[in-house]
Amino acid sequence: MLGLMQPHALMISSILTHAARHHGSAEVVSRTHENTTHRYTWRDVEARSRRLVRVLQKLGVGAGDRVGTLAWNGYRHLEVYYAAPGMQAICHTINPRLHPDDIAYIINHADEKVLFVDVSFAPLVTAIAPKISVKTIVMMTDPEHMPDVSLAPGMTLASYDQLMDAADDDYAWPMFDESTASALCYTSGTTGRPKGVLYSHRSTWLHAYAVSLPDVLCCRATSRVLPVVPMFHVNAWGIPYATALTGGALVLPGRHLDGASMAAILNEERVTLTCGVPTVWLGLLQHLRATGERLHTVERIMTGGSAAPPLLIDAFRDEYGVRVEHGWGMTELSPVGTYNAPKVAQVGLPNPDATRHMLKQGRILPGIDMKIVDGDGKELPWDGVAFGDLKVRGPWIAGAYYGDEPGSALDKDGWFATGDVATIDPDGFMEITDRSKDVIKSGGEWISSITLENIAVSHPDVAEAAVIAAIHPKWDERPLLLVVPRPGRTVDKASVLAIYEGKVAKWWLPDDVVVLPELPHTATGKLLKTSLRSQFRDHYQKA
Ligand code: AMP
Repeated sequence: MLGLMQPHALMISSILTHAARHHGSAEVVSRTHENTTHRYTWRDVEARSRRLVRVLQKLGVGAGDRVGTLAWNGYRHLEVYYAAPGMQAICHTINPRLHPDDIAYIINHADEKVLFVDVSFAPLVTAIAPKISVKTIVMMTDPEHMPDVSLAPGMTLASYDQLMDAADDDYAWPMFDESTASALCYTSGTTGRPKGVLYSHRSTWLHAYAVSLPDVLCCRATSRVLPVVPMFHVNAWGIPYATALTGGALVLPGRHLDGASMAAILNEERVTLTCGVPTVWLGLLQHLRATGERLHTVERIMTGGSAAPPLLIDAFRDEYGVRVEHGWGMTELSPVGTYNAPKVAQVGLPNPDATRHMLKQGRILPGIDMKIVDGDGKELPWDGVAFGDLKVRGPWIAGAYYGDEPGSALDKDGWFATGDVATIDPDGFMEITDRSKDVIKSGGEWISSITLENIAVSHPDVAEAAVIAAIHPKWDERPLLLVVPRPGRTVDKASVLAIYEGKVAKWWLPDDVVVLPELPHTATGKLLKTSLRSQFRDHYQKA
């Protein structure tokens, strides 16, 4: 027997109409390309998104069409976020930090109908224009600030503001199946071509609900939230939806994300919660320490995307009274999967145990599930020690990549393998110990490269560290430590290896240390271990 509740579909447009109707005067603030501040409200976002639908219709966009964006966090980008799915098209955010060949590949693979571009990416569009199939490029600016762009034959260029000025907003948001595709984001994997993750209205709604919960982002009508995490990657962790759903103010920082710019916007816009990757917070910390500036309104900083360095948690808490919270996720998870908020047992933990616990990636969000398995697929215990492949399942987790058969990314029981290796403790807190491709398999046993890297960077002379598996004639693989010295320091191999004493089993110790001037990173700031592996894989063979 079916329930008898109203069959209202979960539409992204209804997140926006809720914000406009019930939180209409809440602010949306953006730093523009010209470094001015643009202010309007959720009521304006809703009206302008309807107007943008009219523009999209004039440009020939229809249901199911992909609408690409190459843009920073700003109000025009937000309007595309809502207008495209609202009219049953798909908002396809493209990461401009990828290699231009990958960007061209992604644009063609998604078969974009229109491409919306921020002024700062005009040179990028000129560079890839001969290789891309999209015909209409809309520059997200007014006619006075249109940049020079060389297009390929058959392409047209338009000004966003000019198109908007010429359109009306006489449009009513339609209702349709909540499983309809709403947004597309390609993973910037460290191997192979990027793969598309195709979200739906339903998955976006459920994810927005879950990230707004008190033990996650705790978004409220009184919150002022600044996502540093880009709208061009992983949906800015769902914040553009969660703030509209809960009626808070949304502050969009544009392209200047250095420490000084961040401190200025956080204070000027009275931000209470801000979210981004550790690199941004380390930059902010450096700036605050160097200038003596304070953060006046920020209560919490959410960090994710890569492991939280302990320094971040300690320094912001002890020097600035700001709580750093740690979350984990991936493009395939919409993206948030776990969040580290304390249970009763963790309340009042003394330091350094408190920090140690906060370094864990956290508890699963309600609605989705996780497990860890060994090499044979057997589930491992939640004892905080056993580590294995992390698998997840749930309604905002990808079942297949764009263009593939439904369910093709899942195992036979419907679980998605994250590619991360993790422990789970008895309280359900997950901790990443490695990427499955990066774990070192020595004599049949696993060694966590991340554990070894974290210890290496606690050495006073080491700025950054990578541990990779190098082929070994006896043990199959052995860990090799690659380090970048801090400016003005030299690294003594024996002293770095001595720091492992008592912290890990003897057989985990790297067999050698190589000092490098720098380490390679992916477009999203993660260590590019594939290139290190191809360079150093035979290190122990040569020795
Ligand atoms: P992406 O899809 O580009 O966001 O990358 C997702 C991957 O980033 C995950 O599978 C993890 O390997 C890594 N990642 C994300 N958040 C964290 C975190 N808090 N700690 C460690 N690794 C993380």
